[in-house]
Formats: sequence, C-alpha cells, structure tokens
Amino acid sequence: MSIQLPVLGIEFARSPVAFDVKLGEHGIDLRSGSVETLQINVGKLCNQACRHCHVDAGPKRTEVMTPETAEACLEAVRRGAIRIVDITGGAPEMCPSFRRLVEGARAEGARVMVRHNLTVMFEPGQEDLPEFFRDHGVEVISSLPCYLEDNVDKQRGKGVYTKSIDALKRLNAVGYGVEGSGLTLNLVYNPVGPHLPPDQSTLEADYKRELADRFGIVFNSLFTITNMPIKRFLDDLRRSGGEEKYMDKLIRAFNPASVDALMCRSLVSVDWTGRLFDCDFNQMLDLEVDSGVGPTIHDFDPAAFAHRRIVTGPHCFGCTAGAGSSCGGAVVSA
Ligand code: SF4
Ligand code: SF4
Repeated sequence: MSIQLPVLGIEFARSPVAFDVKLGEHGIDLRSGSVETLQINVGKLCNQACRHCHVDAGPKRTEVMTPETAEACLEAVRRGAIRIVDITGGAPEMCPSFRRLVEGARAEGARVMVRHNLTVMFEPGQEDLPEFFRDHGVEVISSLPCYLEDNVDKQRGKGVYTKSIDALKRLNAVGYGVEGSGLTLNLVYNPVGPHLPPDQSTLEADYKRELADRFGIVFNSLFTITNMPIKRFLDDLRRSGGEEKYMDKLIRAFNPASVDALMCRSLVSVDWTGRLFDCDFNQMLDLEVDSGVGPTIHDFDPAAFAHRRIVTGPHCFGCTAGAGSSCGGAVVSA
C-alpha cells in the first residue's frame, strides 16, 4: 500500500536551499568533475518565441555575442582542451559569429553540437545551413515537442510544425539521420503541459514510426527533457495556478540516481557577454559560478573548474525528477 505524503508547499519549493536540503537527505555534496563540454549561449535572438522557452528568446531580442567574446570562447576551448562544444541560443545561427565558432571549434578538434530549431533554415541567408552543418561534421539537435501538428504549433507557434517537417526532410536529404552517413540528427521532446516526460525509449520508437510512416523522415535518437520551472514556462504555470502542483510533482519524483549524470558535473556554460555558469538554466537565472572560480571566459582555467561546488536552486528539481533530464535527455531509468 502506498503512503500519501503531505503536500510539500510552495514556500519549500521556492526556497533557494530546497534542492541542497534534498541532496543532504541523501548524503550528496554536488560538485563537478572535470570540464568536458563548453556550452556557448550566443544570445537571445530567435526567429521563434515558444511558450516553454527558458531563455525568453524571440525575434525582438538584441542580446548577441560579439566577435571578441566568440574568440575568447575559442581560446578557452584551446586552453582547456575542451572535447565538446555545444552551441545554443536563441537560434544560434542568427548570431554573426556562429559560423566562426563552429569552424574554430572544429579546427581545435572538438565535437560540435548545435541546438538548431529547424525553422531558422528558412530565414534569409540561412538556406545553406544543412550543407554547412554537413561540411563541418556538426551534430544537430532539434526540438520537436510532438509528432502531431496541433501540439507543436500550440507550444512553438502557428505553422512551426509544417516548417519543421520540411527542415527535417532537408537535413535527411544531405545525409543527417541516415544510417551509415556519420551525420547525427537527434530530436528533443519536452512535455506540452506541466507533466514529466514519458519513458524515453518508448517515445523514441513512437517518433521513429510516426515520422517515417507519415513523412519518410529518419533520425538517430530522441532526448526527453523536463520543462524547467523558470522564465516563460514558470510564468505560464503561475498564470494557470499550477506552480505549486508542478513543483510538488518534481520534488516527489526526485531520483538520487540521476545526480551522477547531471550536466553541470561535466559542463561549463558561457553567456553572450562571456560570463560563466554551471548550466544554461543557472545562466538564465543569473546564478554565476561559485565565487572561488573565475567569473568570465577570459578567466577560464580547467583545473580550477574541476571539482567546483555547483550553485543550485529549486529549479534543479527539474533535472533530477524521474529519469532525470539533461541536454542529452533522460540520464537513468525512471
Ligand atoms: S525554445 Fe528555442 S526556438 Fe523556441 S524561442 Fe526559445 S530558443 Fe527559440
Ligand atoms: S539546473 Fe543546472 S545546476 Fe541545477 S541540477 Fe540542473 S544542470 Fe545542475
């Protein structure tokens, strides 16, 4: 017989130490390992304005990384012998330094991933993106929150589904997602409402079947990602009166087995101005890296960043609920 716990309450869920209290209950001191990935957020400019966006990105945003900061990021990749560069935004392709970052990181021997929203390839001057990605061996990670049109358009804007399908066909046409091509195309699912994602492998099989049957589209893997209770998604929760219920759901689903694979344990995130954070979510909340290590990309020292204390907040429950959630999807079996 299962025992119903009392509701934990919004005061606990909003407390800056709530997550640390939960870690403490499990005897966990959250620290990073060595830095494998530099995640570069080049700014908030985007051709879309999705309802779940944790960046509050959109077409009217003007925050974009300068060429000088982009060069400082590449210098840090060199200095830190960074193995993986993960470029995000906004729509990162709209940053004038985007292509320089890809080329520079590849020249340093790094694996390069781009968080590509698909529809941006239909913006002026971006039509050759599939070929650019292919020619530089970029791994493409694209959000498609459902294989059904209504759900995608509800979350990402009218007409986004049709454009996304056209973009996926273009990526397939140059080899992305096609077996044996060596070109990786991964898709990202996040729940349309205040729910935890379903089982990743089951949903991946559904996506593969539906996209192949309907459109002949192929891809490599599906990443299921939990909606983080910050920014636009949190505003939505508050407007609908669902914040307490959602936070309670995340806290109750806390899975200590997910902590080892949290992305903050192997990643450093840099914003469009060059400031450093433990992850993209902390970046959006302005929670800078622990004061013991350098605050900007110019100070980046891989040795000092290894084993640093991770700065946490209640939003961290989004990463540890159920199967866990990272840039690469679920991290453990739920
Ligand atoms: S979720 Fe992605 S595509 Fe949508 S507005 Fe945010 S950055 Fe742009
Ligand atoms: S939100 Fe960031 S700091 Fe918190 S657990 Fe997730 S990755 Fe780590």
